[in-house]
Amino acid sequence: MATIEEYSGGTILAGIGKTLMYFDAVAGSVPRDEKFHHILHKIDAFEPLILTLGQAMEYIRRAEAIAIGERVCRVLHPDSVCSESVFLDDLAVAMVRAGKAKNADAEDARKSLEKSSGRPLIISRVSGKHQEICPSVPSECVYWQAEKKGMRCLKRKA
Ligand code: SF4
Repeated sequence: MATIEEYSGGTILAGIGKTLMYFDAVAGSVPRDEKFHHILHKIDAFEPLILTLGQAMEYIRRAEAIAIGERVCRVLHPDSVCSESVFLDDLAVAMVRAGKAKNADAEDARKSLEKSSGRPLIISRVSGKHQEICPSVPSECVYWQAEKKGMRCLKRKA
């Protein structure tokens, strides 16, 4: 599972970048070998859930701290559209401390997510708790690319 330290220190990017490169190198679906299961296991640890804006707001309103910052994988795609993620609780605090996000309130977070309407919202588990809400960019997102390669990893929140 990824940790808050990996997010705030940026080391999370190494794993995301390596996985995307592997997907790019494989034509069609990923073969169901040891590597397939290794990658799927790592991705599953994030327990990614697709949320409606209403469901995202429920997490945001319950959070003790909220911050907004650039989605973590954008640095791997410098020509990509800007989009901001919402970080919650201890992850929010750590990202602000690292200079990667700004403190926000629930209304700021709603406006930020609305700016990216049309992009699927995904919440990920970090250090044991769902704390990152990203308006994902499917062509660049490790979860959507995994799905495209035959790894079922995304679920809709009930
Ligand atoms: S687009 Fe996907 S991989 Fe990138 S930060 Fe958002 S959820 Fe993570």
